[in-house]
Amino acid sequence: MQLENLTKEQFIRDFKDTLHQEQLIKVAKATPTEIFTALAGLIRKYYTNTWIERNHALSDNQEKIAYYFSIEFLPGRMLETNLLNLGILDLVKEGFAELDIDFREVVEAEHDMALGNGGLGRLAAAFMDSLATTGYPGFGNGLRYRYGLFKQRIVDGYQVELPDGWFGSTGNVWETRKDHDIVYVKLFGDVVLESNEDGRFVPTYKNAQVLRAVPYDVPQIGYKNGVINNLRLWDVEIPEEYELDYPTLDARRRVKDITAILYPDDSTIEGKELRLVQEYFMTSAGLQTIIKSYLKMGLPLKDIHEKVSVHINDTHPAVAPAEFMRLLLDEYGLSWEDAWNATVKTMSYTNHTILQEALEKWDQQLFKRVLPRVYQIILEIDNRYIAEMAGRGIAADVIERTRIVKDNQVHMANLAIIGGHSVNGVAKLHTELLKEDTLHDFYTIYPEKFNNKTNGIVQRRWTQIAAPELSAAIDDVIGDGWRNDIHELENLTTYLDDKEVLNQFYQVKKTAKQRLADYIQETTGVEVSTDAIFDVQVKRLHAYKRQLLNLLHIIKLYWDLKDNPDKDMVPRVFIFGAKAAPGYHFAKSVIKLINEVANLVNNDESLQGKLKVVFLENYRVSLAELIIPAADVSEQISLASKEASGTSNMKFMMTGAITLATLDGANIEIKDEVGDENVVIFGMDKDEVYEHYARHDYYSRAVYENNPVIRRVVDTFVNGTIPNAQSEGTEIYEALITHNDEYFLLEDFAAYVEAQEKIDALYRDHDKWARMSLANIAKSHKFTSDDTITEYAKEIWELKK
Ligand SMILES: *Cc1c(COP(=O)(O)O)cnc(C)c1O
Repeated sequence: MQLENLTKEQFIRDFKDTLHQEQLIKVAKATPTEIFTALAGLIRKYYTNTWIERNHALSDNQEKIAYYFSIEFLPGRMLETNLLNLGILDLVKEGFAELDIDFREVVEAEHDMALGNGGLGRLAAAFMDSLATTGYPGFGNGLRYRYGLFKQRIVDGYQVELPDGWFGSTGNVWETRKDHDIVYVKLFGDVVLESNEDGRFVPTYKNAQVLRAVPYDVPQIGYKNGVINNLRLWDVEIPEEYELDYPTLDARRRVKDITAILYPDDSTIEGKELRLVQEYFMTSAGLQTIIKSYLKMGLPLKDIHEKVSVHINDTHPAVAPAEFMRLLLDEYGLSWEDAWNATVKTMSYTNHTILQEALEKWDQQLFKRVLPRVYQIILEIDNRYIAEMAGRGIAADVIERTRIVKDNQVHMANLAIIGGHSVNGVAKLHTELLKEDTLHDFYTIYPEKFNNKTNGIVQRRWTQIAAPELSAAIDDVIGDGWRNDIHELENLTTYLDDKEVLNQFYQVKKTAKQRLADYIQETTGVEVSTDAIFDVQVKRLHAYKRQLLNLLHIIKLYWDLKDNPDKDMVPRVFIFGAKAAPGYHFAKSVIKLINEVANLVNNDESLQGKLKVVFLENYRVSLAELIIPAADVSEQISLASKEASGTSNMKFMMTGAITLATLDGANIEIKDEVGDENVVIFGMDKDEVYEHYARHDYYSRAVYENNPVIRRVVDTFVNGTIPNAQSEGTEIYEALITHNDEYFLLEDFAAYVEAQEKIDALYRDHDKWARMSLANIAKSHKFTSDDTITEYAKEIWELKK
C-alpha cells in the first residue's frame, strides 16, 4: 500500500473525483450518505491492489490458511476501523474538516453490519480484525443475511421488533461479489448408492434441490501492516438450469429465504428446518471452495490438513466434519481412512456455552430428509466411533452418552468433538466446567483435545475509535506506543498515585458521560447528571445474565428513598441496553418492567434526582461504542458458572469502569489481573451453585419469607406500585417464588446490595475511584483479541505469519 505517502491534498482531490464520478454531486450539496458511499468507494480503490496481492501471495507461497466458520459475524460499522487500520483516519478527518464536512455525520450514515446476536458474533468479527492485524492467514466464512439482527423499538415499554434492512440504499459498500468462486449446494431428495465401473459405491441423487452459492468477499484490513484478509459471506441463487423447478414467486422466495434473516435467538436453539439449511449451505459452500483452492497448489488431497484448518465456531457449522468427509469420499474418491485422517486433523471446535438448551441437536428424521447423504455418513462415523471406543475398552455407558446419533437426535457438539482434533472453552472457568461437567465423558476419552482460549476484544475499536479522549490522555501520559503494542498500557501503573494524572482520566470519563447524557436526553427525554454514578448493564437479555437482579436492587433503592428522602447516597443512573429474542417471553417481560420502573422512578420528584433508570433501545455495536466508555460501573452479574466468558466485561475494563461481578466467566480473570482491591466481587461462586444443585436444597420461598427487604421488593411486582405492568409483574413474581428462582437471584440479593453499597462508598473518594479505574485500564491489555488469536493460530491451527 502506498498510503504512507498519501497527503491531505491528494486525498481531497481523490475524494472529490470519486464523489463526482460515483454520486454525480458536489461536496457542498452531498448528503452524509452520499459522502459515506463515495469515501468507502475511494478506500476500496486504495486497498484493492493489496487485497489481490495478498490472495496471490498466500497461494504462491503455499501458506497454511485457517478458515473460521461462523453463522454470525457482528462487526458493527466498518468505516472508522478501515480508515484507522489503513493509517489514514486522522488524515481523512483533517481533509473533511477542510471540506467543511462533519465527519461524525458521515460515520453515522453507515448502517451497523449486524449479522450476529451478541457476544458470539462480536467475537467472530474481533477475530477477523485480529487475524489481519497479527498477519496470520485466516479467513472468515459465513452467510450474507439480507436482514441482520432485528431493530428494537420500545413502544409503551414493550420491545417491538422491526426488520434490519441494513443494505439500505447503499448496499454493503465493502463487499465484492466473486462469481469466479461460485459453487453448488445439494439438499433434500433421495440418495442411492450404486457401484461404478471401478466397483466403488457412488451416491446418485434423485430429486435433490440444487442451489447456487455466490460468495461476497468483505476485506479485513490489518492494523497498519498492509495485510488484508477475507471474510466470505455466501448468498443463495437459483441456477438457470433449475428455473423451471420454481415456477411461482412464492417458490422462488422460499429459496431466497435461506439467506434472508439471521435467527434472533441467543443461547437457545430453535430446531427449524430453515436453520439447518442455513448451516449446511454456508458450510458446504465454504468447504467446497477450500478444497478447490487447495487443489490448485497441486498437492495430494489426503494431506489437505497440512495447508488448511477449519474452525467450527459453536455448533452451528458442526456439520463440517461430515460434509468434508462427503466431499473427500464422494466428489474426490479418497478412501475412508485417508479422508477421516485429513478431516480430524483439519477440524477444530469452540464451545461457547454450558447451557443445555444451546447445545444443538437435530431431529433425526428432519436431518435425514434435508441432508440424506450427509446423514448416511454421520451414521457411518457414529458406528465406527462406537466400534473404536469399544475396542479401546471404553465403558458402554460412556460410549452411549458420547455417540452422535441417539434418542432420535443428531448431536452436533458430539460430531464436532469426534470429528476434530481440538475443543476449546472461552475462559478458564468455562473450560474447567467443560472438562468436569458438560463434556466430562469426552474429556476422559480425549483429554488431549481440550484446551482453553479466553476470549478477547479488539482494543482499537474500544479505545481509539470509541474513546478518543481516553486515547489522547493515554498518549499524554505514556506516549503513543500503546497504539501499536497494547501491552504498553501496563506503563500506566507508574501513575496510579499521580493526582494530576488521576484527575485527567477522571475528566476524560466525564466527557464521555456528558456525550452519553446528551444522547439519553435526546432519545428518551430523561435528564441525567454526570455527577451521578453511571451504572451500566448492556448485553442480550437472558435470565442467566440476571438483569432482574439489577432491577430488584433498583426497587430496593426506590423504597429506601421513599422511606427516607434524605438518604445519603451518591446519585445513580442505571443504564440498560438489551434485546430479547422475539419468542423469549420472560426476557420481554423484564424489559417491560425495567421500562415501567424507569417511568415510576424518573417521574417521582420526591427522589430528588438521586435515582434514574434509562433503557436505551436497539443495543448494538455502535451504541456500545457510545455507552461503554461512559460507564463508571460495569454490571457482570450472571449466576456463577453460566456466562462462558463475556466480552463486554473486557470492553468496560479497558475504558476504566469498575467491574461489579460474580465469579463467572472472564470476570475471574479480570479480578486476577487487577487484584481484589480494584474490582467488586459478590455472591455465590460456581462451587456453591453446584452444591445447591447436588443437594436440591434451594427454596426461594423461604428466602422470601425470612427476609423482609426481599419480601418488600418482590411484592412490588404485584401490589400495584408499578403501573401498567400487572401481568408482567405477576409473571416475574411467579418465576421468583412459585418456580423457585432458577438463577438464585434471591440467594445472591443480600450480597449484591452490600456490593452496591461498597460501590457507593468507593465512589465518594474520587482519587481512590480514579486510581481503581486507571488500574483497570492499565491491566486490560491482557484481553486483546490479537493475543487470543495468536494462541489459536499457534496452538490449534499451527499457522505461520
Ligand atoms: C460485546 C458485545 C456483546 C457481548 O456482551 P456480553 O456482556 O459479553 O454478553 C453483545 N452485544 C454487543 C453489541 C457487543 O458489542
